[in-house]
Amino acid sequence: MKRERSAQLHEEAMEVILGGVNSPSRSFKAVGGGAPVTMERAQGAYFWDVDGNRYIDYLAAYGPIITGHAHPHITKAISEAAANGTLYGTPTPWEIQFARMIREAIPSMERIRFNNSGTEAVMTCIRVARAYTGRVKIIKFAGCYHGHSDLVLVAAGSGPSTLGIPDSAGIPQSIANEVITVPYNDIDAFAEAIRVWGQETACVLVEPIVGNFGIVPPKPGFLEAVNRIAHEAGALVVYDEVITGFRFCYGGAQNLLGVEPDLTALGKIIGGGLPIGAYGGRREIMEQVAPLGPAYQAGTMAGNPASIRAGIACLEVLRQPGVYEEFERLGQLLEEGIRRAAETHGITIQVNRVKGALAVYFTDQPVTDYASAQAADGELFARFFRLMLDEGICLAPSKYEAWFITTAHTEDDIRATVAAVDRSFAALAK
Ligand code: PMP
Repeated sequence: MKRERSAQLHEEAMEVILGGVNSPSRSFKAVGGGAPVTMERAQGAYFWDVDGNRYIDYLAAYGPIITGHAHPHITKAISEAAANGTLYGTPTPWEIQFARMIREAIPSMERIRFNNSGTEAVMTCIRVARAYTGRVKIIKFAGCYHGHSDLVLVAAGSGPSTLGIPDSAGIPQSIANEVITVPYNDIDAFAEAIRVWGQETACVLVEPIVGNFGIVPPKPGFLEAVNRIAHEAGALVVYDEVITGFRFCYGGAQNLLGVEPDLTALGKIIGGGLPIGAYGGRREIMEQVAPLGPAYQAGTMAGNPASIRAGIACLEVLRQPGVYEEFERLGQLLEEGIRRAAETHGITIQVNRVKGALAVYFTDQPVTDYASAQAADGELFARFFRLMLDEGICLAPSKYEAWFITTAHTEDDIRATVAAVDRSFAALAK
């Protein structure tokens, strides 16, 4: 597959955009370097690059594009919003409607605030938890990515791990000192951290299903134990549902799994492809936030009608009957096909999957935490990634990122993908 124009544009981009990309995870640094593919059109489950090549998209823009690209219902909502003015700086009726929709789906979010990104949502949850508890420390799980605010860039997975910088430079030691990191799915390690620091801990930050070192579900009882142990110490539980919100059911992973946090952060899917974040939780905790309380959070773009109306339209699509059942059906088909191809060609892999999100790890050990995800073979992944790209299948350029199926993917797309996986594994086995 020729990608000359992509290569040329990358050279040009490097001259003006730092590193040629506006988010580091878009770089091909971890998959052998060179020019990332520059896309110029996206429709449904497909991408077209600047050289005219077509790809089946499993990147889904790192999660938000759950209804496929340019879904007509969402496109219409955005057009209507644009025609009526994109930003008011006042309350609007749509934000009330949208907050109600979210609360109906995720009842633990008794009061909600919209902002502009997952980063902001998580950052503010931490501030609110600190204001409410009067404590400073936070506990997070190794390899979980919670955006790029200072506190949570300690032992962050996803992009930072891909590029080998799990602990970002530029973060004062005094801030890093307030973050305690323990392995995911390890309740003894968490209990020990609480035993030592529990009385100083404002909150524990949890991805209820991990989406930042592939897909890693919690072991049975893990989330329940985290809740109990944190609450016994007077610490709040914050679920980062930026990836998981509305991905596995019409609601959060908390609804699927039957566990409730004190605060929840959302982003990605709820913007229908436009920038958004949201946070919310128990009323008395949320009442810490200005104008009702002393914890400040604000935003010029927060609740802008375009993002909000795109989000409403996206949830309207997702709440149609059968949507999540179809994710399960297609996810199963893809998983089985990948496993079959691996077996045929003697490639050792692990596949972790929840509904329409899955991760393929080149390792012989089950992946249950960050250490086991790190153990997966990155070089083999890089070769697989490039083979798949030449097959017209777009994955994220990182062994730590998930594949996402959207409502636009058809059974034919999945079968074509499985055939591409089979040929790629055959090439790897040579
Ligand atoms: N939390 C999680 C779980 C995420 O996966 C991400 C983004 N990948 C974020 C927070 C940050 O979201 P954003 O990129 O919108 O700031």
